[in-house]
Order: sequence, then C-alpha cells, then structure tokens
Amino acid sequence: MPHVIDAEQCTACGACAAVCPSEAIAEGVDAYVIDPEQCNDCDACTVECPVEAISAA
Ligand code: SF4
Ligand code: SF4
Repeated sequence: MPHVIDAEQCTACGACAAVCPSEAIAEGVDAYVIDPEQCNDCDACTVECPVEAISAA
C-alpha cells in the first residue's frame, strides 16, 4: 500500500521528500503529501521522518 503522511504530526521539515527515490512527496499547504500513484512503498521516507508521521496506508 502507498505510504501516507499524517498532516497533524508533520512538521513540514522536508526530510522525507529529500530521500524519496520516486519523487512522490510534495510540499502541501500545512504538511507534506505523498502521491499514491507515484509511491512504490520503498519505506525510505518512514525511516527518515523525525516525528514518525509516515505510515503504510
Ligand atoms: S515509501 Fe518510498 S516511494 Fe513511497 S513516498 Fe516513501 S520514500 Fe517515496
Ligand atoms: S519527514 Fe516527516 S515531518 Fe518531515 S516533512 Fe516528511 S512527514 Fe513531515
């Protein structure tokens, strides 16, 4: 399943977007957002997030 960012937890640090190999993560209005069409479930972002805001849907 594509990964999802919890907007309530996300601090918009950008760390996840920097490591995503498929450029699936973009900056949204208040939090970063993952495009499910581009996410390949590699898990790189989950490991990188300092506040554990990312999980597999
Ligand atoms: S799981 Fe991988 S491909 Fe999907 S958003 Fe995270 S880093 Fe990008
Ligand atoms: S690494 Fe975590 S806190 Fe930082 S932008 Fe991504 S989801 Fe938000």
